[in-house]
Amino acid sequence: MPELPEVETVRRGLAPVLEGQVIVQADVNRPDLRWPFPDRMADRLTGARIERLRRRSKYILADLDRGETLLIHLGMSGRMLISGGIVGDFVHAHAAPAKHDHVVLHMGQGARITFNDARRFGAMDLMATDSAPDHWLMRDLGPEPFANDFNEDYLIGRLAGRSMPIKSALLDQRIVAGLGNIYVCEVLHRAGINPARKAGRIAARRVAGLVPLIRQVLEEAIAAGGSSLRDYRQADGELGYFQHGFAVYGREGQPCITPGCAGTVARIVQSGRSSFFCPLCQR
Ligand SMILES: [Zn+2]
Repeated sequence: MPELPEVETVRRGLAPVLEGQVIVQADVNRPDLRWPFPDRMADRLTGARIERLRRRSKYILADLDRGETLLIHLGMSGRMLISGGIVGDFVHAHAAPAKHDHVVLHMGQGARITFNDARRFGAMDLMATDSAPDHWLMRDLGPEPFANDFNEDYLIGRLAGRSMPIKSALLDQRIVAGLGNIYVCEVLHRAGINPARKAGRIAARRVAGLVPLIRQVLEEAIAAGGSSLRDYRQADGELGYFQHGFAVYGREGQPCITPGCAGTVARIVQSGRSSFFCPLCQR
């Protein structure tokens, strides 16, 4: 499941071939993915110029010159493939159409963007740009981790009195948008906070410390994604998945990497999802 850094990496990889470019043809090869595509999606995309590619939480938003915005959600298995355009230092030739190539955008300068999604948990939608913040997928989202309205006072206020585990609170998209299971595990390890601790029982000073740590962990992952773009070697032009070392995620039974800590990474299940943490240095 791509998380915020992976989606941001895809956005940065797509921006040079999409921003400022006209969609000369849009192929929409089925009526739906996770949800039905919007009415006449191919017609509404064809001939439009993409003015800006942005990200809100895990959604990529392409603002069109016609006053509409295209929302792209990679879902569980969605992949964006670029061919005939530059990805990092690499130009990929057009591949033959493949199974699960559901939407193909042919761009004015010759690049082709293919949305391939074997499991079809991804989504695309079109909305008026002005009302994008009110779209049902985005209207309840909390602040972006890098935005000014996500700050120490805000997080302390949102967690005060809450009895849910801190892990669940940070995964709650209404509190902060875009954090997923992997990076919440990493943030809590770096903060030395046990994922099962009740959110409202953690000292304000430690809650405040989470804000810069969340940004730090995400920034490092985005930087790792950026290196994967510059050093592009995959044959098919696929964007978004990169090798990245984790401190605790997926490391059950291995030694904790915190300097001076002799702990072993443990795994518990919270709300049906694995939490990896060190019982010794995360309190
Ligand atoms: Zn430890």
